[in-house]
Amino acid sequence: MAGVVGKTGHGVTGLEAGMRVILGPDLYCGQCGYCRPGRYIPCQRLRVAGCQATGATADAFTAPAGRFHAVPDSMTDAQAALLEPLSTAVHAVRMVGQLAGAAVAVPGGGTIGLLTVTAAVRAGARAVAVSDPRDGKRQRALRLGAASCAGPLTADPVPAMRETPGGHADVTFDCVSSQASTAQAIRLAENGGTVMVTGVAAGDVTIPLPVIQHRQIRLAGSAIDVRQEVLRAIELMADGAVPAGELVTATLTLTEGAQAFKQAASGHDVKIHLVTACPAAARAAIDQGRATRRGRDREDIRLNGAGRLISRR
Ligand SMILES: [Zn+2]
Repeated sequence: MAGVVGKTGHGVTGLEAGMRVILGPDLYCGQCGYCRPGRYIPCQRLRVAGCQATGATADAFTAPAGRFHAVPDSMTDAQAALLEPLSTAVHAVRMVGQLAGAAVAVPGGGTIGLLTVTAAVRAGARAVAVSDPRDGKRQRALRLGAASCAGPLTADPVPAMRETPGGHADVTFDCVSSQASTAQAIRLAENGGTVMVTGVAAGDVTIPLPVIQHRQIRLAGSAIDVRQEVLRAIELMADGAVPAGELVTATLTLTEGAQAFKQAASGHDVKIHLVTACPAAARAAIDQGRATRRGRDREDIRLNGAGRLISRR
């Protein structure tokens, strides 16, 4: 989700009215045994904006100041809204470790799958093979850097996906996490390779443990992201690595939300963006903030390691 700061709470620094921001949706507690040493993702009291806390299907909402990231004014709203899923893909790639020269397979050409293709290519993967039942998504994957795409509905995609890198995949990103995609991911994996579970599973799946053990496949999970990955996503987006038009296939208003969810469930679209009109009170604060920022719009935003605004140049 992307938006504009309308108002900040007392004592908030680094954010100002009118500033364009994205929200990291993982609202961690900051106090539990995982948060205290800085491991926020497995927070014991984690709430996700839009699920367990108010999110962007509203005209305006509040969230902890520390979870916002400033985005450059040069970035479009569509690009800014893609930064969070792109950060998730960057996180999954970073969790694998060294990807340079690796053969990669990606079952699933949805938003996370396509962004994982981009992140893997930018991380130096030598060949990325994708499978998705929809031709439109396969074509998008090819345009984003995939070396080949296979359709699992017409034939077993695994042999075709193995042809691309000339064998099994060193790393497979399971971007669907269904029974079928996980089975496919394990079949694609090289002996000693990695299957990174990146998609959000709707339920339990059965894993062939004898295969995992005998072929010494590393099965791991990846979720959300950390600040340094958001900064990397901003770099990639600013660098033109992700044409927003390849990901955003429909833009609807908030009042069309029910239709948007129905449309998303059909599987035909990749990313559907909901846009909302800004409430009058927030608009006034935004205009006031922009007035004080006038003349700085073409300046680059510099971010520190925590993703907070530190200066403009
Ligand atoms: Zn916590």
